[in-house]
Amino acid sequence: MNAQPQAKDTPASHRLKTGAEFKASLDDGRALWVGGERIAKVFDDPALSAGVDLIASMFDDQFKPEFADATTYKDPATGTVYSRSWQVPRTVEDLKDRRKMIEYTSLKTAGTFGRPPDLAPAIAVGLLAYLPTFKEKKSLIDGCSPDFAENIEAYVQYGRENNLTASESLTGPQNDRSSPKGAEASLLKVKSVESGGIRVSGAKTVGSISAQANEIFFTNLGGIRETPAEACIWASVPIASEGIRLISREMVSHPGADPFDHPVASLGEEADQLIIFDNVFVPKDRIFNLGDPTAMSYYGPVCVFAHWHVLTRLAVKAELFVGAGQLVLDVLGTGHIPAVQGMLGEIIEYAQTLRAFIIAAETLAKPTEGGVMAPDVGMLTAGRLHSIQHYPRIIHTLQELCGQGLVMRFGKKAFENPEIGHYLQDLLPGKGVSAEVKELLMNFVWDMTSSSLAGRVALFENVNASPAPRLRERLFNEVKRDEFIAQVKTLAGMP
Ligand SMILES: Cc1cc2nc3c(=O)[nH]c(=O)nc-3n(C[C@H](O)[C@H](O)[C@H](O)COP(=O)(O)OP(=O)(O)OC[C@H]3O[C@@H](n4cnc5c(N)ncnc54)[C@H](O)[C@@H]3O)c2cc1C
Repeated sequence: MNAQPQAKDTPASHRLKTGAEFKASLDDGRALWVGGERIAKVFDDPALSAGVDLIASMFDDQFKPEFADATTYKDPATGTVYSRSWQVPRTVEDLKDRRKMIEYTSLKTAGTFGRPPDLAPAIAVGLLAYLPTFKEKKSLIDGCSPDFAENIEAYVQYGRENNLTASESLTGPQNDRSSPKGAEASLLKVKSVESGGIRVSGAKTVGSISAQANEIFFTNLGGIRETPAEACIWASVPIASEGIRLISREMVSHPGADPFDHPVASLGEEADQLIIFDNVFVPKDRIFNLGDPTAMSYYGPVCVFAHWHVLTRLAVKAELFVGAGQLVLDVLGTGHIPAVQGMLGEIIEYAQTLRAFIIAAETLAKPTEGGVMAPDVGMLTAGRLHSIQHYPRIIHTLQELCGQGLVMRFGKKAFENPEIGHYLQDLLPGKGVSAEVKELLMNFVWDMTSSSLAGRVALFENVNASPAPRLRERLFNEVKRDEFIAQVKTLAGMP
């Protein structure tokens, strides 16, 4: 994994890609199907292409002074500037700095990309956080025993040297959950061991953003009760690896639409793919664990930074809901009605609660055995559970604040049409704003709450990082309560 050569216009003290360099890195012959048709390049599908453009603009922002602090950091030892996506937080201050990047990518996509460029690196950093544990793991597969810990360190270094983007797929395709055989049929497994690495076959699912990223980071979680040794793997490969086939779901955004009509959905989307691995070669230095079932229980600890990312993005989005809600009250002139104030109060409570969980998780952060500062998992899990349980109601409340305006949207062309545009302007103005400006706000709320893009995002929020029943199970298993038990025993006079 040698560093790719730096672009000519990149100063030696940077390891940052421009948007154009990022786009060029996706032009690699990846095998991708959309709507049942093979497409030659990811740019050939309008929704994927618009999504790539949005990600590319994040790369360009790294070079702009106003975004430099949120998107990049300087290695104190060398002075080299890197993307914050690959920053390894060692202190609580580092965590707060790294969070700036999460807030930046969340705002850039209005929270609609759950897997922006800084999400998958958070999982690699999660492996680094447990380096001593992974160093102890031994491959149970004959003939393949790389030094996993060394690979993890080298991969994080490689990612930051190359300003890499990745997708991650941890779960398996959906099939008959009542039978271990159902999951086994699609389970990603080692098929053969070669001197330079292994060959794997099987499938991974909903690898959001895979078609629009450089790499895929994968493991096998859930689905079957006992994972066989040949399926116990944490690894990463380039998306264009021979034998990888990406089958995309139906697109749900409105690329190319007038930004007035669809301020968010016109930005394209991160699409989800079924990823087929057909005898894919994984070089030894891309394997972070192999054949040791005890490493498979590390999902929670390894994903703690990714889950902190998920909660932070939801908090940013909740704050957008507050802002949109207040604007709706302003333009409809409904802000003086106590019942309406109460509805906005509910959205404010949601946003404040998510922020509080993030602050608590960071305040209670502790260094891991690998010396990485990890947010408190109990606070994160409780916050994530709260965020997904209340999401549908918050969406509903925001929709309700809008009344008919959320449905009665006519589009830019209707406003510009000389025969009907003047009716719209005369009949539909808001408080202190034109009918057009009022509609623009409603179009934003539509894209965020009611469009097909919003539908996918709502389903994503509910399950992308474990559905609510599993989060409750995690709280039961992971949050210590000895102190509370002792308090009750003292108060009740129990022995
Ligand atoms: C749009 C989208 C994008 C996603 N992106 C990614 C991604 O990028 N990377 C990634 O790794 N994953 C991603 N996920 C997948 C996510 O990890 C899974 O959807 C989630 O783990 C649930 O698994 P499942 O969908 O296979 O549910 P199934 O196993 O098919 O179960 C269906 C439902 O049954 C219930 N259930 C099943 N088993 C249990 C259990 N043991 N305890 C309690 N309840 C249970 C739950 O309500 C669950 O939702 C994404 C999902 C969606 C919808």
